[in-house]
Formats: sequence, C-alpha cells, structure tokens
Amino acid sequence: MIKVGISSCLLGQKVRFDGGHKRSSFCDDELGRHVHFVPYCPEVGIGLSVPRPTIRLEGEGDTDSPRAVIPKTGQDITVELADFADQRQTQLAELSGYVLCAKSPSCGMERVRVYQPDSNMNSKEGMGIFAARLRQLMPALPLEEDGRLNDPLLRENFILRLYVYNAWQRLPQPLQSADLHQFHASQKFTLLAHNQPVYRRLGRELAQQKRITAEFKTYYIETLMDALSQPASKKNHTNVLQHIQGFFKDQLDSDEKEELASLILEYREGQQPLMVPLTLIKHYLKKHPDDYLLQQSYLSPYPNDLKLRYGL
Ligand code: SF4
Repeated sequence: MIKVGISSCLLGQKVRFDGGHKRSSFCDDELGRHVHFVPYCPEVGIGLSVPRPTIRLEGEGDTDSPRAVIPKTGQDITVELADFADQRQTQLAELSGYVLCAKSPSCGMERVRVYQPDSNMNSKEGMGIFAARLRQLMPALPLEEDGRLNDPLLRENFILRLYVYNAWQRLPQPLQSADLHQFHASQKFTLLAHNQPVYRRLGRELAQQKRITAEFKTYYIETLMDALSQPASKKNHTNVLQHIQGFFKDQLDSDEKEELASLILEYREGQQPLMVPLTLIKHYLKKHPDDYLLQQSYLSPYPNDLKLRYGL
C-alpha cells in the first residue's frame, strides 16, 4: 500500500499545543482506505509536552529563514525541528506524499504567520520549519495541506501526484533507459493535460541520454512533479480527450464518433464532468483494446471510488 506521511493531529491524535487534534475526515475516512498513513508530530517528536506553550515563527523581514520560537520562554527550537526531518530521511524516502497541517509553525506548508520579534506584527509568508526541511530534502515529494484538500481541483491534483510519484518509486533500480522511456510514455497524456511544453522537453532530453545518470534521474522527476503540481486545465483535458479519440478513428462508426465528440465538447463547456467522456472512452477501449492507450496512467490514475473526476 502507498505510504503517505501526515501530521499526526490530522488523524485525530491529541498532540496539539492545547491537547486537541485537527482530524481531517477526508484523510482519515476516505484517503486512509487507499494509503497507509505514517503519522509524525515534529513538536512532540523533539520532546515537547502535550499541552505545551505556543510556538511561533519569528523573523525580521528575512522570511526565507524564520526561526521557531517559544515566546513564553524565549527558547529557539528551529534546529531541533529541522533535525527531526534529517534524522528520519530513510523513512521519509519511503513516502509517496505528505499531508501537512495548515498554519502550523512546524508543519504549515505556506502562508504561516511570521512575527517580528517582541511584536504582534506579522505577515503570512512563512513555511513551517519541519515542512520547509522536508521540501528541501525531497523536492519531488508531493506535499499538500489539509484545508486545501477540500478543494476538488487541489484534492485531485494531490492524489494524482501521489500515484505518479509512487509509480516512479516502484521503477526497477538501477534505472535503465528503457524503463524510463516506458515510464515517460505511460505518463504522456497525464503530463500533456498539465503541461505540454514540459512533456515535449523532457522527451527530447530523455532521448539524448545514453544512460540514465543520477543527476538526470533527479532532474527528470523533479521537473515532472513540478509540472504536475499545477492542476490540469479544461482546455488541456479537452485536447487530450480529442487526441485519444483519434485512436478509435477506424473502429467507431459515425454515430459513435459523433457521440464521443459531443460529450468531449459538453465537458469543455462545463455541462459534463470529465469522467463522462472518459467512461465512454474506457468502454470503447475495452471493445477495441489498444496497447498504447492501455498503458496510459491518464485513463486510471487513482482508485475510482475516491470519485475525484466527478468534480472536474
Ligand atoms: S501541526 Fe504538526 S507539530 Fe503541530 S500538533 Fe500537528 S503534527 Fe504536531
């Protein structure tokens, strides 16, 4: 089962500074059926108690490197929180994604308040210390925050990235050129739906590699995951669907072609969700199997019962 890191409080563990939790029902009830969550609470992990005094980020205009401080005692716990990630690199490398608790000075992914020292003046420009270190150590790892997962587009995008990254992690090692070519081909329509120039550029660069070096491997996956982190647009999905339709030009009669074409247009106009034309495409693919299409992650990127394409 795919392993996904998560802030412990999102699974209902009472580890917050006030002794409470921030249980995410989507993570615990729905996503948890498909992934194995590995919970971490960095603050408890570095030895702080529950309950504990509040922690906040402090910085003087230099929001790239704020400090995590306990205002009540003046203690600076920045290094400890970063070390908490460093010391777990082996376990973290097994994860295919990470769900972080929003706004936390340790776990927050973005827009965490950074205070001016000895003042309540603040700006929402920070990233939690643990989250920032996690991103530094593993730039390709899909990260998302609990609150953002309530947005259907962002939810779908995160889960798509989880499964693509997991497929990458499962490639045979050491990575051979043929395996990477095969992987790139299988992600073609997924990547085209997100970023056509990156698909073509990566394809060109891959074709120039005589062998897959560690540097190229890192470059490839970081570029791919960065491109996928932008949700796919309706326009790009439409292009991909029309491209796929072309694969059936010799198998479908004119009524079938017209039906599929009009469903794709209805999707583009917002009258149908993405899964409607895709369901018909999968039906035709069953009747007229095509090896190239069957290998495409785009057609079955994640478990159906997450119902992610109903909202797209
Ligand atoms: S946000 Fe992170 S540090 Fe804070 S309680 Fe949750 S898991 Fe622990």
